[in-house]
Amino acid sequence: MEKTYKIKIWGIVQGVGFRPFVYRLAKSLNLRGWILNSTGSVHILIQGEEEKIKKFLDDLIKEAPPLSKIEKIEKEEINTTEKFIDFSIIESKESAGFNFISPDIAICDDCLKEMRDPKDRRFNYPFINCTNCGPRYTIIEDLPYDRDKTTMKIFKMCEKCKEEYSNPESRRFHAQPISCYDCGPTLWIDGEKDSNIFEKIGKYLEEGKILAIKGLGGFHLACDATNNKAVKSLRERKKRPSKPFALMMKDMDMIKRYCYVNEDEEKILLSKERPIVLLKIKDLGDISKYTAPNNKYLGVMLPYTPYHHLIFDYFPKPLIMTSGNISDEPIIKDNDHAKEKLKNIADVFIFHNRNIAHRVDDSVVFVENKELNIIRRARGYAPDPIKIPIKIKPTLALGGELKNTFSLGKDNYVFMSPHIGDLKDKDTLSVYEETIQEFIRLFRIEPEILVHDLHPQYLSTDFAEKFKKYMEVKAIQHHKAHFFSLLLDRKITDNIICFSFDGTGYGEDGNIWGGEVFIGNLEEVKRIAHFKYFPIAGGDYAIENPRLIALSYITKYFPSEVENIFPHVAPFEKEIIKRLIEKNENIFYTSSCGRIFDMVSALLKIREHIDYEGQSAIELEMHAMESKEERHFPFKIIEGEKIEIDIYPTIERILEERKRKDIKDISKKFHNTISQIIVFISEILREEYKINKVGLSGGVFQNRLLLKTAIPLLRDKGFEVFTHKNVPTNDGGISLGQIILGKENNIK
Ligand code: ZN
Ligand code: ZN
Ligand code: FE
Repeated sequence: MEKTYKIKIWGIVQGVGFRPFVYRLAKSLNLRGWILNSTGSVHILIQGEEEKIKKFLDDLIKEAPPLSKIEKIEKEEINTTEKFIDFSIIESKESAGFNFISPDIAICDDCLKEMRDPKDRRFNYPFINCTNCGPRYTIIEDLPYDRDKTTMKIFKMCEKCKEEYSNPESRRFHAQPISCYDCGPTLWIDGEKDSNIFEKIGKYLEEGKILAIKGLGGFHLACDATNNKAVKSLRERKKRPSKPFALMMKDMDMIKRYCYVNEDEEKILLSKERPIVLLKIKDLGDISKYTAPNNKYLGVMLPYTPYHHLIFDYFPKPLIMTSGNISDEPIIKDNDHAKEKLKNIADVFIFHNRNIAHRVDDSVVFVENKELNIIRRARGYAPDPIKIPIKIKPTLALGGELKNTFSLGKDNYVFMSPHIGDLKDKDTLSVYEETIQEFIRLFRIEPEILVHDLHPQYLSTDFAEKFKKYMEVKAIQHHKAHFFSLLLDRKITDNIICFSFDGTGYGEDGNIWGGEVFIGNLEEVKRIAHFKYFPIAGGDYAIENPRLIALSYITKYFPSEVENIFPHVAPFEKEIIKRLIEKNENIFYTSSCGRIFDMVSALLKIREHIDYEGQSAIELEMHAMESKEERHFPFKIIEGEKIEIDIYPTIERILEERKRKDIKDISKKFHNTISQIIVFISEILREEYKINKVGLSGGVFQNRLLLKTAIPLLRDKGFEVFTHKNVPTNDGGISLGQIILGKENNIK
């Protein structure tokens, strides 16, 4: 019996070779009908013997292309007298509903092999790609995903490319960015006409020049990582004194010469997302010490575009590959803009003419306890949707101030923007607003609810204010957003004890929170415990100068020690802090765990001033990594309406031990102390609330040593431990948590 079915499939099914796959499958089973891309889904009409249609559907799920992700299938039988004679791919059509967009994908092995084949017509072609690899999100201007809606539309396919594009047997069947030497984009060195530009690039790198290279989602600034002078001058020109630079290395062998790489790390380095992976240094060898000062890790990635591979043909050494921008501004994506903005940084510009529709930085990840931790979610991951275990109204969550991302969600999907940056300058803010508009347009989600951070002075709060007339605007406390971010990320629906430890977040009582313990679920959340508030004088200046945090604490709690510990500090500075503390003026009170790390780092003279966010805690961790100390310092738990964690005894002991002990051991004991606090509080709360799940969320948990000590301790005590998996634990993940306010019934 012949039957006809209409099938609708949602998910990542566009730009991943799905239509050719379906075409081949239908053909192989002698089925007839058609397939088309619609907005956010593909539609199939299939006609033939019932048995074969059943097999078609089974294989459709079982054998779907590796990059596709089927979220939902709807099947409906239709009565028709129409007889189809063949199976075909027909023109795309627009329809309602929201979209999925594939992230960009690193060059695949097949394309790499072809590129290296002297007999292939794409031998050494810098833009080779196929349906399994290449640019996606960065070239998509609109949906459905077809060539004329990408930045490839200006390149008219040559006959040979057209042939591959329309041949269902070809790996490039309907590969929208398909191109070749005859018809595709070109790469050139600005101001030069040269046939072998890669040889030239190698020469420039060898000479110590700084290159601005247009990549997939924006520009990189590149130089020879083994050239001290070049790396140092890149630091000076980029106004980035010490924040580590990322590296690109030729291949796995090269990486293993410098870094330890375990099995999981290797898998991620080679994954189609191809992020920067933080790897423990084995031997820095000839790599410049200015690459990652005072750090035991290197951020390393493998080549991910065809032309990255080609660069290494003439320069077989590690390359610095840092975002093309000035300090923390958004990554630059257009040729003209790069030339203007980077003219005082780069000596040479490498341009190409495939326009970047959306900027996206490199992603940054690390593996600890065999688990993936995403520090920056961007290329390769965004804008893959995050599926959440609740249903939400169309909601836009604006994110936090630092490492901002925003999230746009509807039903049980959240589309999180790639990493945008720190929302403190005008350039970042305009990129932020532009990306929000793009997301609303591309994903066809018109927000009805706008969620922002509780902080009255955030630029995103300002932004939200403007929309009060048009939609419902809600605010959520920063650490509660961390809490919900973890629950949504890990799909936790029952009760959990969650430690939300980070640097700064505006608290509901007007104090600065950052060392919070919550209990709750997706319905309600309650703050149960926090670090005891301590005063910090000096405002924002103190954040950049952790010495003031330490000075404030010592002035308040150990006044007789001030002279002892800070003999090098100008008397007027001590006097000012003393007066502010005594008068309780120009002071903020905080429970921030991040600030406690800063304080300890300053007390141990590891860092009194920082050049980038998190530096003092990172360097404290690096010192601690060299110690085998397993003991910890005392701390005090004060039980009251809220449990307070008092670190007075910890600091008291640190002051005492710093006179006679190695700071590495003290640093390690401090890390152990934070781990012990987490375990101790967890046990008290388990006893009282009968909850066995423990979650860790917040920037403090980027500290790998802390993860390495706290998690096994918790597991030893029988706790089930949850850390982030799909979004960053830092503020780059909070927009996902904020989206909770888009839920139908309000959160208590
Ligand atoms: Zn490919
Ligand atoms: Zn061509
Ligand atoms: Fe935070």
